[in-house]
Amino acid sequence: MSGKVYLVGAGPGDPELLTLKAARILADADVVFYDALVSKEVLALISRGAQSTDVGKRAGKKLLTQDEINSLLISYASKTKIVVRLKGGDPLLFGRAGEEIEALRMAQVDFEIVPGITAAVGAAAGAKISLTDRRVASQVLFTTFSRGETGNWLNWAAVTPETTIAIYMPGTHYGEVADRLLENGLSPETPCLVVSQATRAEQEVRWTSIAALSGEGQLPAPSILLVGRVATQSIAGWGAGINPKLLKNSETCDARLNARKKN
Ligand code: SAH
Repeated sequence: MSGKVYLVGAGPGDPELLTLKAARILADADVVFYDALVSKEVLALISRGAQSTDVGKRAGKKLLTQDEINSLLISYASKTKIVVRLKGGDPLLFGRAGEEIEALRMAQVDFEIVPGITAAVGAAAGAKISLTDRRVASQVLFTTFSRGETGNWLNWAAVTPETTIAIYMPGTHYGEVADRLLENGLSPETPCLVVSQATRAEQEVRWTSIAALSGEGQLPAPSILLVGRVATQSIAGWGAGINPKLLKNSETCDARLNARKKN
């Protein structure tokens, strides 16, 4: 084998959120197989000389099976130097990287993984909330309900009121997601946030609750749901104004920090 395969995260859309390493590999690539979720600004960073192919789903229909994609990666690694598998967000989250890693290992192809910013993290940044705000959250769960018939893998016992749940691929009916959450014991008042096209110019953020989620109109794909106590504007502290005590505090902080610099 002469070539190497890179599983690269393209991030949630904003090309400035791409890692320097991802940008360098895209500029040097010979062949790129990319998914539908990769933004056109990121695709524009692919070397002009590279052969670049969309292997993503079209209207929910797959053009290629996962096995076929695996075999493309392996066969191109024998013909060219730099083969890139470019995926939205982070390649290791809900991106079928597990199967690709296994196939590359079995074929003894050299490969490397370049992480990317995952949608949940991009969405939290877009909405300006902390996923682990220590006042109200102790853990974050990355999950999806759209894993077909194999169904309910989520360990609901692990979902506490202090859990922030990031729900990938929420589908076209948020009502189904809401029902699922309620069935499994979450309170209808639990705050919920829909972020559509996170970090892109078209980003939309909708603050709601599990109870109100069913009535929310569909936002453009891709969208992600963030559920839990962190997902409210009151935690985000909007519009409370500047407390005069805060300015006073900052003066004493400055004095202490300057004193430390001198020592
Ligand atoms: N590997 C990707 C996830 C792939 S699954 C990652 O780490 O982000 C595809 C799902 O990711 C979409 O259905 C949507 O729920 C979410 N997603 C991806 N990009 C998004 C974006 N820019 N804004 C909101 N959700 C996004």
